Amino acid sequence: MAVRKLLESWPVLRQLRDGDALGLGPAVQSARSKALKPRIDEAEHTVQSICPYCAVGCGQLVYVKDGEITHVEGDPASPISRGRLCPKGQATKSYATSPLREYKVKYRRPYGTEWEELSLDEAMEMIADRIIETRAATWQEKTEEGNPANRTMGIGNLGGATLDNEENYLIKKLCVALGIVQVENQARI
Ligand code: SF4
Repeated sequence: MAVRKLLESWPVLRQLRDGDALGLGPAVQSARSKALKPRIDEAEHTVQSICPYCAVGCGQLVYVKDGEITHVEGDPASPISRGRLCPKGQATKSYATSPLREYKVKYRRPYGTEWEELSLDEAMEMIADRIIETRAATWQEKTEEGNPANRTMGIGNLGGATLDNEENYLIKKLCVALGIVQVENQARI
């Protein structure tokens, strides 16, 4: 019995017996590799997403269990990246779930000497109030030559390389609707 077990543990014999001549199938599985499970095995569902890091916009599959991200990998259905992610894109899970992730905004008031922490909602309210005030105070209906302008030169927008095409499209649309004409992106400078 022990000899038979020993022989069966020999991959070459299993290859011949199971018709797996090149040793690419179950014939070469060890007890350990048989018990291995894919990282995504326990995921409850998958969400299609876009890598948040750069404007290439590679497609991602985000695996979720109990409402938490368990794994992120390239989406083969993406015509842009066809399943691939660069090392930065592959680290997206850490970006989303790191204990170092900031959920507050650091704010230093005019003449302030210390950073204060604001909630995202509070910071958004402050930004909206300032845009409305500045736009009203600096609105130009006409240029100096008397031509129609309908713009504000008091507000500018500078985007970063992490913005993807869709975000840039929406930012440009919002700026144009507000009469903000100074719109630039760091990736273009
Ligand atoms: S950071 Fe990498 S994976 Fe993410 S969109 Fe850019 S190239 Fe693609």
